[in-house]
Amino acid sequence: MKDSHTHKKILPSACKVTDDICLPDSDLPRVVIIGGGFGGLALVEKLKHKEVQVVLFDKNNFHQFQPLFYQVATSALEPDSIVFPFRKQFSGYKNVIFRLAEVEEIQPSSNILITSRGKVHYDYLVLATGTTTNFFGMDSVAQNSLGMKDIRDSLNIRHMMLQNLEQAAITCDDDERDALTNFVIVGGGPAGVEMAGALAEFRKYILPKDYPEYPASIMNIYLIEAIDELLSTMSDKASSKTLKYLKGLNVKVLFNESVSDYDGSEVTTKSGKKILAKNLIWTAGVKGQFPKGVDEKHVVKGNRIKTDPYLKVEGFKNVFAIGDIAALISEETPKGHPQVAQVAIQQGKYLGESLLKLMKNKHIEPFYYKDKGSLATVGKRKAVADLGKFRFTGYFAWLLWSVVHLISISGFRNKLMVGFNWAVSYFTYEKSNRLIIRNFKPKSLINHTKN
Ligand SMILES: Cc1cc2nc3c(=O)[nH]c(=O)nc-3n(C[C@H](O)[C@H](O)[C@H](O)COP(=O)(O)OP(=O)(O)OC[C@H]3O[C@@H](n4cnc5c(N)ncnc54)[C@H](O)[C@@H]3O)c2cc1C
Repeated sequence: MKDSHTHKKILPSACKVTDDICLPDSDLPRVVIIGGGFGGLALVEKLKHKEVQVVLFDKNNFHQFQPLFYQVATSALEPDSIVFPFRKQFSGYKNVIFRLAEVEEIQPSSNILITSRGKVHYDYLVLATGTTTNFFGMDSVAQNSLGMKDIRDSLNIRHMMLQNLEQAAITCDDDERDALTNFVIVGGGPAGVEMAGALAEFRKYILPKDYPEYPASIMNIYLIEAIDELLSTMSDKASSKTLKYLKGLNVKVLFNESVSDYDGSEVTTKSGKKILAKNLIWTAGVKGQFPKGVDEKHVVKGNRIKTDPYLKVEGFKNVFAIGDIAALISEETPKGHPQVAQVAIQQGKYLGESLLKLMKNKHIEPFYYKDKGSLATVGKRKAVADLGKFRFTGYFAWLLWSVVHLISISGFRNKLMVGFNWAVSYFTYEKSNRLIIRNFKPKSLINHTKN
């Protein structure tokens, strides 16, 4: 019989007893980062191999490349091509530690974090927790529609879509078939536009092959936008060209409309329009998410945390915020910086450098954002690009979009997988496997079953 004592694993002697979470003891200052998105990851890259102990907490064990969520949702890419494990990323980074835990509360007066796995001490704290979908208090929409802020959301959209298309082939009820095959996308920003374009291509190239029993007129795609233009943060040229591309793909764009109610089968708009649709994808808004313990006086519109020009949360010496969650309000940026990957990356890099200077009492310049431009694609071979004074549309913009995204994806294997998939799809119009491997249920049905 085995003696259980002989098999006991010995904890690293370096573990600090003041923390619940085992971390190597170290004389180096400890920088704790909450969130390994674009901002958090850029910060880690700046602090690797430096004289600091870096601890990254994330509720997932992987980084997510959000700009390509819509391609996973429409079966163009598999999820593992656009998510990347933190432990693989940090392999060989001796001063960087990853811990899988959700941070629930911060206690700045004692420099303590409360996580789902226990408490931990920090010397410097960086909030890089990003945003979550904002349904603006509309419960019926939150319960029955799907946002696109997590890789699981993308997989839910994919399964909802494939299940509904299968059910549409089964039903003999015309209204039900319409609802099952109609798609409503809310929000005419980059995420909504790209999703609408990808769905329209799915309808054009995949539907006739996979579902020959459907008439060509099936599957209406609506894009609902609350103001009178698409991609409102880009140039007029980008906006009008995008509309033209979407119309060419037969997407019905409704301007100056917003959704007021959704029961899971019928969308009601503020002006009273009714659209039969069992597929509602919500890309119309986000709001900041962060742990408890941040005083309300530091929180501004969009649930973002107000920082000073050095990205420090006002009132604290050692608490910082970067990326989507941070709002650096100034004369140039009265609403804070745009919530895009470039801002998060530049803030992560900047903070890495300035933290190292701060520790050595060196002079620090305020954060300055260099806008490198914006890109959005509308289906295959068409995109719009605003790069400084230059405006590109069409094939060249699409090539640019493809190269920029391919370069930005973490990991060589992921770049290869995405590049290969795109190349196949470019020549064949074929998409990845359209498998229903889990049963998708809307949130309303799950909650109903629980009650
Ligand atoms: C569908 C979609 C398409 C987009 N397309 C583009 C685009 O084309 N171009 C562009 O520039 N931007 C795009 N964006 C925006 C871009 O993705 C964000 O601006 C960027 O991700 C912000 O980076 P971040 O580091 O602030 O947060 P995120 O990247 O959101 O990362 C936040 C991290 O924090 C973790 N986290 C959150 N709370 C906790 C907690 N309490 N405890 C532990 N971990 C936590 C999360 O798991 C996540 O890993 C898109 C966004 C979406 C949703």
